[in-house]
Amino acid sequence: MKPRIYVTRKLPNQIVERLSESCEVRMWEEDDKPVPREVLEEEIKEVDGLYCLLTEQIDASLLEGADKLKVIANMAVGYNNIDIDAAKRLGITVTNTPGVLTETTADLTFSLLMATARRIPEASEYLRDGDWKTWSPMQLTGQDIHGATLGIIGLGRIGEAVAKRAKGFDMKILYHNRSRNREAEERLELHYTELNTLLRECDFVCVLTPFTSETNNMIGKEQLDLMKESAVIINTARGGIINEKALYGALKEKSIWAAGLDVFEEEPISLDHPLLTLPNLVTLPHIGSASIATRMKMADLAATNLLDVLLGEEPPNRVV
Ligand code: NAP
Repeated sequence: MKPRIYVTRKLPNQIVERLSESCEVRMWEEDDKPVPREVLEEEIKEVDGLYCLLTEQIDASLLEGADKLKVIANMAVGYNNIDIDAAKRLGITVTNTPGVLTETTADLTFSLLMATARRIPEASEYLRDGDWKTWSPMQLTGQDIHGATLGIIGLGRIGEAVAKRAKGFDMKILYHNRSRNREAEERLELHYTELNTLLRECDFVCVLTPFTSETNNMIGKEQLDLMKESAVIINTARGGIINEKALYGALKEKSIWAAGLDVFEEEPISLDHPLLTLPNLVTLPHIGSASIATRMKMADLAATNLLDVLLGEEPPNRVV
């Protein structure tokens, strides 16, 4: 008998076909709406494998009701949506999709940095709103990217890929991790600093750590207060690493110059969120890895991980 799996969102046909060769597949068929919790609670009871996205909160109570579940394949590199300790305790393998999205997410991080520094969404709106009456010396002026100092908090796969892009702009690059990466320092001419030094010295700060109990609210008021008035902060990692209330305060008071966010504490962000009233904030709807090619690679890799576990093989990307 084929193993049974549940897929929490409509996947491209070729991925469903691949999964169906070895598994009995049930799938939430809606593209633009996450599976309701009560549906997931019922489905998970009956399956050997779960193929899910970061929109699903896979907590202990859900897993305790999943007697047959052997594997959770998350179609994302971050896995803060899954209770890893509970999965471990229950003997359920968890996998993610690192690597295949690194360059695409770095492209987006750098795009957001550039769009924020040069006020691109605001300038585009200015034109469309009919406000462009003439050219004037200080109209819509932004911050220079070339030659500026970039600070990367979380120099992992994506952080390094962002550093490579920054080098092309002649940026000086500082980074902060829990552990130094001397090999990357040499290869990419990076300087390791403590977090507070990085925040004080950088013109641009990119947050690229995973979301963990340690990084939750890692950048709050105290940290934002250290930054230059001309500084720009970018978060393409996870919401909650920068405290949104503190960020709102810093942007409103102009104690920092601007921010670019791809991720939020609550997603989708509510349209009446105070952050969305600020002109010096550029926002995106969590599209870091959203290129056609990369999303296909992520979908395929999550399928490989899931199938390998169900077929008794070691998956390429085991988290636990
Ligand atoms: P990675 O290779 O694991 O890199 C993460 C880096 O963060 C590591 O170098 C790690 O170094 C550092 N780090 C971890 N905890 C830290 C802490 N408490 N303080 C300082 N540094 C810390 O991961 P990645 O593939 O680059 O992905 C990074 C994150 O980006 C993912 O976890 C995911 O949440 C997010 N992401 C978002 C999107 C999007 O669509 N916006 C797309 C892809 C990924 P140490 O262990 O030495 O501290």
